[in-house]
Amino acid sequence: MKKISIIVSCYNEEEAIPLFYKELINNLSKMELNYEIIFIDDGSKDKTLEVIQTLRKEDKNIRYISFSRNFGKEAAMIAGLEAVTGDYITFMDADLQDPPALIPVMYNYLKKGYDCVGTRRVTRKGEPKIRSFFARMFYKIINKLSKVEMVDGARDFRLINRRMADAILSMKEYNRYSKGIFSFVGFKTKWLEYENIERVAGKSKWNFWKLFKYAIEGIVGYSTFPLVVSAFIGLFFCLISFIMIIIIVLKTLLYGDPVSGWPSMMCAIFLVGGIQLFVMGVMGSYLSKTYLETKKRPIYIVRLTEEDES
Ligand code: UDP
Ligand code: MG
Repeated sequence: MKKISIIVSCYNEEEAIPLFYKELINNLSKMELNYEIIFIDDGSKDKTLEVIQTLRKEDKNIRYISFSRNFGKEAAMIAGLEAVTGDYITFMDADLQDPPALIPVMYNYLKKGYDCVGTRRVTRKGEPKIRSFFARMFYKIINKLSKVEMVDGARDFRLINRRMADAILSMKEYNRYSKGIFSFVGFKTKWLEYENIERVAGKSKWNFWKLFKYAIEGIVGYSTFPLVVSAFIGLFFCLISFIMIIIIVLKTLLYGDPVSGWPSMMCAIFLVGGIQLFVMGVMGSYLSKTYLETKKRPIYIVRLTEEDES
């Protein structure tokens, strides 16, 4: 019998986990598959780990990895993927925003020959208007800038087969941006759409500023276009200054050189200085990614797993 592995990233989800587990088991029992559920405790500060350990006493198909501190959801996802042994693998949130009822549906598509079934939200109900607006803008921009296609509203909730899992594991980068990684590896993907669901308990770990930084991360990670733009801005200003030099030389030769034009000079200095700093900032953000990448730091550090028991 084939096996399905469920990877659940959890950060302060003590209230949500029992509800999630019940709902998940209800759906898994309908499928003729062995299963393993691996909870990744991403350095939670509440009783998340204890809750998972209690569940494991009842169900030995539950495994867990507990991080030494909070490393972020991306780290949790890759830690889970490295640990699981299933033929089919799915990533889920613990807050029931990813409905377990979809798993059997997704599995049917894999049997039909797809390698991956992804989910996307078609509505952003229950989300602040301003956030939806910026999210849409982000997808417009990134899809113009980047060669890999990122689907608007795509969630991390996916079911993939072993082939695709191995492809993802072969991407060893430190700066992980899973939306980009999934589309980079390609494979035949089926998209399922559903309405946004509010989380059952606890609260979202995202705020506007975090999402903004995440968006920049995506752009820097999956497009070098800002660097090209920087070079063009530089070239454009060289051209302007070249024309200005000719005009000024001619003017001086023809009309002499009365000292004037201080305001316009200051404007030019500020403008060019500002552009230089901006372009350096763009270059710096790529450099900093390279810097982190060359350090080869671990993406996550494990403090405890179910193998440490007994
Ligand atoms: N999460 C995590 N590490 C973090 C932040 C979040 O593992 O540093 C988990 C969290 O427990 C949840 C999932 O990632 O299961 C999605 O987080 P959340 O529900 O806060 O995001 P949202 O659904 O609001 O986008
Ligand atoms: Mg959520």
